[in-house]
Amino acid sequence: MTSNFLFGTVGSPLSTPKKPGGTPGGILRLRELKLDALELAWVQSVRVGDETCAVIKSTAVEAKLALSVHAPYYINLNAQTQELWQASRDRLLAAARAGYKAGATDIIFHPGSYMKADPVAVNQIAVRRLAEVAAQLKAEGVNVILRPETMGKSAMLGTLEETIAWSRAIEGVLPCIDFAHLHARPGDGSFNSYQEFSAALKLVKDGLGTRGLKSLHIHLSGIDYGPKGEKKHLPLKEADLKYKELFRALIELKAGGRILCESPLMEEDALVMQKAYRRLAAKKVEG
Ligand SMILES: [Zn+2]
Repeated sequence: MTSNFLFGTVGSPLSTPKKPGGTPGGILRLRELKLDALELAWVQSVRVGDETCAVIKSTAVEAKLALSVHAPYYINLNAQTQELWQASRDRLLAAARAGYKAGATDIIFHPGSYMKADPVAVNQIAVRRLAEVAAQLKAEGVNVILRPETMGKSAMLGTLEETIAWSRAIEGVLPCIDFAHLHARPGDGSFNSYQEFSAALKLVKDGLGTRGLKSLHIHLSGIDYGPKGEKKHLPLKEADLKYKELFRALIELKAGGRILCESPLMEEDALVMQKAYRRLAAKKVEG
């Protein structure tokens, strides 16, 4: 049976050997572990030259590993001055340009903060700026999907509904759905059941069609949270996230794409997820 989802890690696995180290070493280690995807964690800045990008790309092609990029954290579609927006925009463009050279198909980023402003007004600014970035990349022939991530704190821009709305409005944009963040965001322990997970997936299907549902990009980990949302990521077994219920919903709705593990245990939990998903998918076929 072929799996509908590729599993992997955000950042190179902890067990990547020193030689070859770096991203190529991470790719080879994931292949060894029979994981199929890597998100390059360019979360502080983008500092990779063309040569490094070419090596990453050829290593991933050879290993048949799917690549994405996590752009720097410091991006805000709602930056308060034109100068700050230019800096945000440049970080996102740099991640996309270098990511494309490295063979990444998807660029994940944190959309920013409401800065205590009215979400409706913020969304008008966000969609206009995101469209500007997408158009610029298209003009340059940088063929990547921009993926605004669903965020884990109520003060942060990035509900599932917002990321779907931007994806409907702009060609080349789709959500990165972090289910741990969506569970942490309300702060009351909700969004942690089969019903809530399937309702979210149905929103995706209604907004983005079956194509959207079959090309999901998911971040997953355990998570600690309080009334304002996310505190920190946790190993699956130390947290309350009902990830097997999520997998049941994904299987039921015939969803597909990538699931990237963001647990502190990295590849160990990625393998736990892959195994659990495959077991449930096989059960569904038998049943
Ligand atoms: Zn993220």
